[in-house]
Amino acid sequence: MSLKQTDSAVYGLIEKETEYQKKTLRLIASENYASKAVMEATGSILTNKYAEGYPTKRYYAGNRYVDEIELLAIDRAKKLFNVGHANVQPHAGASANIAAFFAFLEVGDKFMGLDLANGGHLTHGSPVNFSGKWFRPTAYTVDKKTEALDYDAIRKRAIEEKPKLIICGYTAYSLIIDFKAFREICDEVGAVMMADISHFAGLMAGGVYPSVAPYADIITTTTHKTLRGPRGAMIMCPEKNAQRIDKAVFPGMQGGPLENVIAAKAVCFHEAAQPEFRTYAAQVVKNAKALADEFMAHGLRLVAGGTETHLVLVDLTPKGITGKEAQMALEEAGIITNRNTIPFDTRSPFITSGLRVGSAALTTRGMKESDIRHVGSMVVKVIENPNDSELKLKTRKEVEELCDRFPIYR
Ligand SMILES: *Cc1c(COP(=O)(O)O)cnc(C)c1O
Repeated sequence: MSLKQTDSAVYGLIEKETEYQKKTLRLIASENYASKAVMEATGSILTNKYAEGYPTKRYYAGNRYVDEIELLAIDRAKKLFNVGHANVQPHAGASANIAAFFAFLEVGDKFMGLDLANGGHLTHGSPVNFSGKWFRPTAYTVDKKTEALDYDAIRKRAIEEKPKLIICGYTAYSLIIDFKAFREICDEVGAVMMADISHFAGLMAGGVYPSVAPYADIITTTTHKTLRGPRGAMIMCPEKNAQRIDKAVFPGMQGGPLENVIAAKAVCFHEAAQPEFRTYAAQVVKNAKALADEFMAHGLRLVAGGTETHLVLVDLTPKGITGKEAQMALEEAGIITNRNTIPFDTRSPFITSGLRVGSAALTTRGMKESDIRHVGSMVVKVIENPNDSELKLKTRKEVEELCDRFPIYR
């Protein structure tokens, strides 16, 4: 029996969420719309199978086709990112990072990542996260004036702190990272280089972000952000680190892999290897730049002066509104964003002075520069008049019209 027949409560809520996604504009930099093919694989019969272990070395019988699926996903990932080894089993970005840490560090070891309020991720040393509780984080920051990474300062800090591992790759940084510089710093201090490419993996796959493959000892990534696959993650590395990584994922951290999601990852890697995906990735960056231009034309200040990626971080201070207020007003107008701290923010992570937006999801809907500029102008109007109910209502109508012109699923 179908879900509709057996569970009208869950069915009804999924229907509502579908309408909601269709009728709102998603500017959340970490979100995207997976293809129907990706969702079909995620919702497939593979959810029934236990496959603890790795292809041809499973702890359960009956994995002949599951092995083929996982091997296909691994092979596609290796080709897409030009890496020696890929482990496609991590359930999420956070679990991939746990495994990466345990592959190379002992509990209590010191590592270095970008300060969280500067754009680092929760799993890069937050005191409430495993990374900050079980390991000893020390942070580097962006430059106070340029708000960009200062590689000389990072090098100096690394020499002082002598971390065993250094992370690059962030959750709210709009510029392209110099991976070669990180490699040199890591070599100089004898640190493991970990790149968490969760946010911009799709841009890298699409050829508009330099490859990290020649440099990093470990590469972790989610598959559901710019890469546009199922909710999940993977770890990549040079062949020489393959065993450490595989052992850390299973049996180190996880039990049975989600083979339905792994099949969906395989589908996603195939999609991302097509010429159309390169066009998509290039458009994502063009759209982010258009959005940044529109914001700047209206007097918003952009952190780091703009963007080279899918992500734009806005400092709302000149407009006299907090991130929290802006996020709420925009949500009422049908525009979904998230508040974010800006470097050296004086406000708490719950309030924030910034707003983080990204172009990946709207680009998937088919929007081009002029369309996204239109979205940007709506965002600015709402930010400038957050308490104007009439404006928010009018914007909501405009948003719905735009959503009808750019359907999620055709
Ligand atoms: C999103 C993200 C993660 C975590 O991914 P989850 O799937 O939410 O656990 C880790 N690192 C970075 C840099 C991210 O942007």
